[in-house]
Amino acid sequence: MTQTLHIIGGGMAGSEAAWQAANMGLNVVIHEMRPKVETFAHRTGNLAEMVCSNSFRSDDSEQNAVGLLHWEMRAANGLIMQMADKHRLPAGGALAVDRDPFAQSVTDTLLAHPRIQVAYGEITELPSEGHWIIATGPLTSAGLGGAIQAETGADALAFFDAIAPIVYADSINMDIAWLQSRYDKGDTEEEQKAYLNCPMTKDQYEAFIDALLAADKAEFHEGETAGYFDGCLPIEVMAERGRETLRHGPMKPVGLTNAHDPDNKPYAVVQLRRDNALGTLLNIVGFQTKMKYGAQTEVFKMIPGLEEASFARLGGIHRNTFINSPTLLDDQMRLKSRPNIRFAGQITGVEGYVESAAMGLLAGRLAAAEILGTPLPTAPLNSAMGALVHHITGGAEAKTFQPMNVNFGLFQPVDGLKGGRRGRKDRYKAYTDRAKEAWQNWLSTQS
Ligand SMILES: Cc1cc2nc3c(=O)[nH]c(=O)nc-3n(C[C@H](O)[C@H](O)[C@H](O)COP(=O)(O)OP(=O)(O)OC[C@H]3O[C@@H](n4cnc5c(N)ncnc54)[C@H](O)[C@@H]3O)c2cc1C
Repeated sequence: MTQTLHIIGGGMAGSEAAWQAANMGLNVVIHEMRPKVETFAHRTGNLAEMVCSNSFRSDDSEQNAVGLLHWEMRAANGLIMQMADKHRLPAGGALAVDRDPFAQSVTDTLLAHPRIQVAYGEITELPSEGHWIIATGPLTSAGLGGAIQAETGADALAFFDAIAPIVYADSINMDIAWLQSRYDKGDTEEEQKAYLNCPMTKDQYEAFIDALLAADKAEFHEGETAGYFDGCLPIEVMAERGRETLRHGPMKPVGLTNAHDPDNKPYAVVQLRRDNALGTLLNIVGFQTKMKYGAQTEVFKMIPGLEEASFARLGGIHRNTFINSPTLLDDQMRLKSRPNIRFAGQITGVEGYVESAAMGLLAGRLAAAEILGTPLPTAPLNSAMGALVHHITGGAEAKTFQPMNVNFGLFQPVDGLKGGRRGRKDRYKAYTDRAKEAWQNWLSTQS
């Protein structure tokens, strides 16, 4: 008898998961609450609606990690990529799409699939039986959010992200920055050197505050109230509360001695902390912000040591429901406490249309393979898909987990290649060549 996979949410992830699983031979039911229940961002009842920008970002599969994810999804017969290609608009090296025909084609294709059914209605409970994927996205309805929270614990489900910028470690000037935890706290040398510190003089601090106050800020979307609380105020809001606020908060200089200039006490210190187990990415501690992206790079490059910094991700604060995947999910994307339920898409703590669709593709295949009695290993670590799923289900720091875009900082280094800006082109080509081979090998085990 053909078995059934239920998917809650017919967005980027749920649509792709349904397509993959149905093509592997399962019956699939997509449970989608729209148009009966609306969100503040969606406008239609279509599946896979793009809620804001109409771009899938770079389509360069040799030099860009998002472009590489496009390539991997195309190689896996991904529906989202097929329809994006069909409705492509001119946009230079980016993949922009005509949003309404795109979503309409995804909807029509899924509705026409002989093994896919769409049940319109909101799900508000965690299912106790059967095989399920939860792909309800950043705007998961309150009812289901409450049920997830009851299962996982309040601390493991967030309703807002508070993203601090992430910097590639090898782009920081270590002639200015130094490694030290405040008051050298920690039992091991690794812990005593867990933070990277960037010192500021009084003049540099004052100029930084002026730039923060003057920077362009993004508005909250309609319906997306500024529900941040005092623990995660944007840095520019802290600066507005008083010029000294940051110096007594995330930029306080106490307990730190500049290793390059031990006799001069810094007036303020910006701290960065490891963001992944590989140590290739660092987040700027406490620097969540609503500054516009252009303003962020300008302002953050004023920080001594970060003048030449490359950013893997810029900061932001958004309405965004996501779970603490590093603690809750196994590498098959199953909820450890209820392995009949998988999570996929943005709710797992990835960020963006492409990453969400990619996690749907993977969850759909893993679920179908398991149900059909031929379980698959998860995506290979060296592929873009594998680097991303590994990050959210284990590589990321669970305590400070925040949503992540795909980027080369998540990839294992390739031996023998030059670090820094100079070697970047060769390094990225080596990552993408290696990824394509690993991904093809993984796919070939399934055909
Ligand atoms: C305001 C806003 C702007 C954004 N702008 C961008 C952008 O410009 N570019 C970008 O790449 N990403 C953007 N994102 C992120 C983007 O939404 C996601 O990357 C992507 O849509 C996530 O895919 P998903 O499948 O995980 O969730 P979604 O695409 O949101 O799909 C989830 C689906 O689940 C349904 N659902 C929710 N709860 C239930 C329930 N209880 N029962 C049944 N169905 C339910 C929803 O109606 C929805 O259709 C934005 C997000 C928001 C909120």
